[in-house]
Amino acid sequence: MRNMRFHVMTLFPDMVSQGLASSITGRALEKEIFSLNVVNIRDYSRDKHRHVDDYPYGGGAGMVMQPDPVYDCYADIVKSCGKKPRVIYMTPQGTVFSQKIAQELALEEELVFLCGHYEGIDDRVLEEIVTDYLSIGDYVLTGGELPAMVMIDSISRLIPGVLNNKESAEYESFQDGLLEYPQYTRPEVYHGMRVPEVLLSGHHANIEKWRHEQSLKRTFLRRPDLLDRACLSPSDKKYLEGLKNP
Ligand code: SAM
Repeated sequence: MRNMRFHVMTLFPDMVSQGLASSITGRALEKEIFSLNVVNIRDYSRDKHRHVDDYPYGGGAGMVMQPDPVYDCYADIVKSCGKKPRVIYMTPQGTVFSQKIAQELALEEELVFLCGHYEGIDDRVLEEIVTDYLSIGDYVLTGGELPAMVMIDSISRLIPGVLNNKESAEYESFQDGLLEYPQYTRPEVYHGMRVPEVLLSGHHANIEKWRHEQSLKRTFLRRPDLLDRACLSPSDKKYLEGLKNP
């Protein structure tokens, strides 16, 4: 089994190590299905006070992370990889992360996540080392640690062995371009609401059909933008027409 390695360059290593140490990612780390190398950029400070940031040239609010500690930290990671890995900078200015990007990144053996803080990182080192600029959405966070954890969580669950049978990633939202159908478990009646009859029928073909139609309906109601890119059969299109013109 391929052991994927995630490297995280950060000023807040505990946040990342502790955040990923629980639940499914924690279990996979313990089983060494993938590994995590969290590196503190502050360890590469060239200053006796361990500073890694300074005022922005040209003035303005906030501080900017200096290029040298970031580069030296990166150079050490490259040495440990033996080749130049993809370096992903967490930034609100990047392409918005998606399931498709997670699937593509899950094919890599080594991935480096660079987390900014304050006003961000000196652009010269970004130009030098970054291969991908990714965002988790159109809002601004205080640092890149949460975005890196979001991405590592969603990429790692696509690695064979991370999820067990109970947690399959096969039929989930976005996997086929649609949102997932609604899910139910026991009890059969909850606060007067019954589980849809078809799910109790044991008729697999009918269950499959119902679930697929529910997926189409959910996507139509909640994320109609996804339907433009989804792979739809003629009967899917007919079903959606029925929803549009009841
Ligand atoms: N001044 C930067 C700008 O306007 O683009 C924002 C800096 S933000 C306060 C600090 C750091 O948080 C960024 O360097 C980045 O690593 C991270 N960050 C903030 N929002 C993010 C988002 N939506 N997606 C990914 N990373 C984000």
